[in-house]
Amino acid sequence: MILITSEDTKKGFMKVIDIIQRAKNPLVSYEIIPPKRGGTIQQIFELIEPLQKYSPPFIDVTSHAAEVQFEELANGVVKRTVKRKRPGTLGLCAAIKSKFGIETVPHLLCEGFTREETEDALIELNYLGIQNVLALRGDHHGFLKPLASNRSRNTYAADLVHQITAMNRGEYLEEMLDAAKTDFCIGVAGYPEKHFEAPNMQRDIQYLKLKVEAGADYIVTQMFFENRHFFAFVDACRTAGITVPIIPGLKVLTSKAHLKSLPKSFYLELPEPLVMEVEAASKEQIPEIGMRWTTRQAEELLSNGYNVHFYIMQQAKHIVPVVDALHKMA
Ligand code: FAD
Repeated sequence: MILITSEDTKKGFMKVIDIIQRAKNPLVSYEIIPPKRGGTIQQIFELIEPLQKYSPPFIDVTSHAAEVQFEELANGVVKRTVKRKRPGTLGLCAAIKSKFGIETVPHLLCEGFTREETEDALIELNYLGIQNVLALRGDHHGFLKPLASNRSRNTYAADLVHQITAMNRGEYLEEMLDAAKTDFCIGVAGYPEKHFEAPNMQRDIQYLKLKVEAGADYIVTQMFFENRHFFAFVDACRTAGITVPIIPGLKVLTSKAHLKSLPKSFYLELPEPLVMEVEAASKEQIPEIGMRWTTRQAEELLSNGYNVHFYIMQQAKHIVPVVDALHKMA
């Protein structure tokens, strides 16, 4: 296995698909989450600094629709209460790119945004020189922003991909004369253990194929802890005629609470040997067990020629030893 080095990273390519296709060796990319409201850009810079020496080809920044509750009061007035908000994805992407020279991939959602707001965000990204996006539906939180009469919504991620590829052809929502074409590279999500709402794996993969046919350039998967799920998923995608690169997503398990929260939030299975080891361990030993597990997973994936995408969210301390170990094995 040979890992990417600073000499053969992107060499001026801005689109993730170009970086992937031209890389001589497997790539290791990362995904982070914006700080909560009131957080600082410094927090994000401190998170990325220790990763710099591994020459990340790109960093994804997640996006979160504001969790807002709309309640119709007796007098007909609609009361709006913001429960949670994590803004700043676009700004963070621009700041990371400008400070570190690393390509960034902002996540764009259907949920919580009108198509008109999405178009404005894409125009914004275009001005910022960011040419990558990950197109996602987002999760329903039991409320829907009321839609003004002159606004529209994307229902599925495939609809969002259609909107972006239309802009890449110079077709905007309102007919505009001489509208400039954008040139976005589009990633989408895939689920080695099936998306929780899909009736079965076959149907889920058919819907994934619709995203690719709409114009998605590559797929990043939900996290998984057994590589056999990923290999079976790739086989099923290839059989279904999906030919774009599929990047496996991995996360380090770091606490006993993860034994319940990861299956609950991400609809995945944790392998029994890992569960047994974590259950028998002290709190202090668990991150070490998780890092060892992830290193083994990543090593197998990389040596099979796959790139790896690490979900690091808000701290790099558990991923740095993993990437370090992978570089030593290379
Ligand atoms: P879709 O591809 O639209 O699929 C959603 C469901 O609908 C699936 O069950 C699919 O089988 C089904 N479906 C698709 N098309 C059709 C159709 N035409 N008819 C009927 N059913 C259909 N969430 C966030 O909020 N912010 C993030 O930044 C974020 N980043 C993520 C990154 C990755 C790599 C992954 C894997 C997930 C991420 N998520 C994020 C979570 C994601 O938003 C949820 O998993 C969401 O429930 C589904 O999003 P999707 O884009 O896969 O949806």
